[in-house]
Amino acid sequence: MLNDAAANTVALSFEDGPDPVWTRRILASLDASGTRATFFVASPRAVVWPEVIEEIADAGHEIGLHCGRHLVHPSSSEASVRQDAEVALSVLSSQNVEVRLWLPPCGQVAPFSGDLARRLGLQLVSWTIDPIGDASGSIDGVIDRVTTELNPGSIIRAHDGFDDGARAAAACELSLEMIRPLTDHLEARGYEAVPVGEIASRVLDLTVDPSVAEPPLPV
Ligand SMILES: [Zn+2]
Repeated sequence: MLNDAAANTVALSFEDGPDPVWTRRILASLDASGTRATFFVASPRAVVWPEVIEEIADAGHEIGLHCGRHLVHPSSSEASVRQDAEVALSVLSSQNVEVRLWLPPCGQVAPFSGDLARRLGLQLVSWTIDPIGDASGSIDGVIDRVTTELNPGSIIRAHDGFDDGARAAAACELSLEMIRPLTDHLEARGYEAVPVGEIASRVLDLTVDPSVAEPPLPV
């Protein structure tokens, strides 16, 4: 997307799904608030629940790659991450999902991640606000954190599934509870929520400094 630097667009990013319970609840809440988001999926869950992937796509949301086995790049070999990503992409391709974005597990990249993403035709992205953190906080705290840190181009991290190495159900609960007050707040402040792909050009290029796990502020 071009020339949107002045636009008050932000994105809501879900990861670790799909899940037949949480993803569907989140889809219903997003639909009720007229918000489009991005879902970074784990391919083994897409294999089990292809109908949920279809529901995400049919609702007009964006689907990106998260992972297969939730390999954290800095502690994995390039070969294993490559194989994991290729399997995940073939699963999504077989479900007629075209993937452009890659949110790596834990938002962490290794020195090889950038080249690998390019070879796979993907753009690495990450969040800029992680309001739920370890999911031990309250919904009020979550909303406070988002509203304090919010800027044009912010990407807000949330969860719609859980598995080994991923966040627990409490994070999904907070993610669901966050949607309504967050979208009300966005509307009141004149922000528009769009899929990550529509603001990804302003997002950190994770390949510039592979040692950085925390993304910088958007420009
Ligand atoms: Zn994850």
